[in-house]
Amino acid sequence: MVVWLHGSSCVGCSVSLLNRISEAAPYSATELLTDTVDLVYHQTVMAQAGDPAASVLTRAYRDGGYVLVLEGGVATAFNGHACIAYSLNGEEVTFMKAVSDLSSRAAAVVCVGTCASFGGIPAAGANPTRVVGVGALTGRPVINISGCPANPDWVVWAVAQLIAGAPVDLDEDRRPTALYNRDLSGNPCEATIHGKCPRNIDVNPNALPEATDFGQDGRCLIGLGCRGPSTKARCERCWNGIAGQGTWCIGVNAPCHGCTEKTFPGPQSFYELYPL
Ligand code: SF4
Ligand code: SF4
Repeated sequence: MVVWLHGSSCVGCSVSLLNRISEAAPYSATELLTDTVDLVYHQTVMAQAGDPAASVLTRAYRDGGYVLVLEGGVATAFNGHACIAYSLNGEEVTFMKAVSDLSSRAAAVVCVGTCASFGGIPAAGANPTRVVGVGALTGRPVINISGCPANPDWVVWAVAQLIAGAPVDLDEDRRPTALYNRDLSGNPCEATIHGKCPRNIDVNPNALPEATDFGQDGRCLIGLGCRGPSTKARCERCWNGIAGQGTWCIGVNAPCHGCTEKTFPGPQSFYELYPL
């Protein structure tokens, strides 16, 4: 049984999951939700609302043993009241309290997206609502599926491993090594975005000279702030990876923003380097 809660986020990770199409079963988000995963609570896709919906959480907490999926960072300012997860019997329950309570009875906790994993964009800058990642709040073991948004295939993979009781090897940031930094070739650069980028002259002898400005197709963007050299993730597996149709940031001539890293968006991010 899976319980999915939202905190300080844009809900983009849910959108990413709902857009999922795949060459392997479950082929679509519909198949995933109807045939594969017993998702009992997700506020933007469930039919119920109000107290009947919130009662699902009460029952899940009573029985325990569920996989808790958390999307969004945890607002800790104002005793958590900057972010309300749901109401029950006329009482607001903060995301901070919901995370603390529900994670204590979960069989496993999966943080979907960089906000839940490390704070991400809601924790950036002055951070007036004092957003933190879930692990930092609870101190309990979590599996982080970082990304802004998280790759839906990685979310499905992690939940499937947990439901099947399979072991998940994690890196120092509690991300599955199979998805983020497995060194497949023995080359230490292999795990980075840079180590797989076709615009990298060390990867592709036919790569063009570096770009000096945006809009110069197919050229390395390192001089414009690409974070590929310091970002570890297997994004080359693409989003919506049906053969020939899937894509990733590098594949659409964009730089890597380092969205899977603990430091994202961090100082000197694209949002600061190139303000609108
Ligand atoms: S565009 Fe980024 S990832 Fe690609 S070669 Fe340049 S620095 Fe590396
Ligand atoms: S290529 Fe970089 S910015 Fe794009 S999804 Fe991967 S880690 Fe995030």
